[in-house]
Amino acid sequence: MTEKVNIREEIGLPKGFYWTPVPKALAKLKSCIVPKKSEKKVKTFDSMGCILSRNVFAQRSSPPLPNSAVDGFAFRYPKDGESRIINVISHTISPGKFPNEKISKGEGVKILTGGPIPPGTDTVILKEDISKQTSNFEVPTKIKKGENTRNEGEDKKAGELVLNKGHKLRSQDLALLTSVGVLDVDVFERLNIGVLSTGDELVDDNKKAESFQIYDSNRPMIISKLQSWGYNTSDLGIVRDCEEGLKSKIKSSKGKLDLIVTTGGASTGDRDFVSKLLNSEGDLILWRVAIKPGRPFAMGFIEGIPIYSLPGNPVAAFVCSLIFLKPSLDLLAGGTFSEPKSFLVKTNFSKSKKKGRREFLRARIDPMGSVEIFKSEGSGRISSLSWSDGLVELGEDVTKIKVGSMVKFLPYELF
Ligand code: AMP
Ligand code: MG
Repeated sequence: MTEKVNIREEIGLPKGFYWTPVPKALAKLKSCIVPKKSEKKVKTFDSMGCILSRNVFAQRSSPPLPNSAVDGFAFRYPKDGESRIINVISHTISPGKFPNEKISKGEGVKILTGGPIPPGTDTVILKEDISKQTSNFEVPTKIKKGENTRNEGEDKKAGELVLNKGHKLRSQDLALLTSVGVLDVDVFERLNIGVLSTGDELVDDNKKAESFQIYDSNRPMIISKLQSWGYNTSDLGIVRDCEEGLKSKIKSSKGKLDLIVTTGGASTGDRDFVSKLLNSEGDLILWRVAIKPGRPFAMGFIEGIPIYSLPGNPVAAFVCSLIFLKPSLDLLAGGTFSEPKSFLVKTNFSKSKKKGRREFLRARIDPMGSVEIFKSEGSGRISSLSWSDGLVELGEDVTKIKVGSMVKFLPYELF
């Protein structure tokens, strides 16, 4: 297990006061997660978001037979010196039927897109390339042998490696697997993740919030995000700011959940019980990171269950869920702990920044293709999350951003 953080030292004096830099925090998370090993077979149709537990090989070629890429006429390409006139016979080859008919030299047959190339032919001419009414056509010299046909197995050959173990299945992968006849896949079992919010001020959506209360914004946000990543979720509700309540909720989840996400109570205040509990009852792996927003983020284990303690502030909780939780879940689920996908883009803003911490700004691409940031950096501005399409990442060493600087943009869609 990684070193235990000395909570008293961190709360107390400036001496020993330490925020873990983001790269080190990520390395700690990566090293303490043990991937879940249990596998099962699922129908490919239902495998969205699952992680492959074995390499997958094509069960059949795709396409299984040579076929036409267009609506047109199939014929055997004339050899040098042979007549280039093709007589069209009155028959149509359509997809979904085996092509039994043998087409003779000098004959052409109407063929629809996807129709199997009939024996004796090797080329298809687009129907627009010949005049409509004629019963014959001359093969134009611009048409080459084999044109407008798709070869058997041209996408994937039977037996070929299609996708690797550890790959997380997306919609397009379901199409690929199905096309090569892989109708069931071996995957790691989906994670079951518990989500709870902490705070005396929080109210559930089935009650009316008094003026001194706020609705719990974090659970709908975190639970829906986890589901969109392909995980099963268990709604553990709101837990009051009380160590005992929190402890019993976490302990009663033993054996049922693979991981628990909490929000709130991660900081150093009197009523911040999550970080306290992690230190007193569990193994605190990580606490307080040099990141903005999201500084109070903590991670540890209680009774062997990984606990991701996100800050209560919804903006910080959202950022921490993308930066720390997402790669950890992918690893735990049998995939890889990888960096978020990003691209470089020009800024339309200027900004000064403190050295030593990594900052994530709520941002979107403006109509000119530059990146703009939300008007306020206030972390209480939940509307900034809806306004933005991604995050600008400013590294630890950055201190100044000028208009036109190149920065990393991390689209939300790519997490
Ligand atoms: P905490 O991390 O518990 O100190 O909370 C930080 C801020 O986020 C406080 O203003 C909380 O009221 C707010 N907050 C905490 N949890 C939630 C939540 N689930 N939904 C909305 N706001 C929250
Ligand atoms: Mg709180």
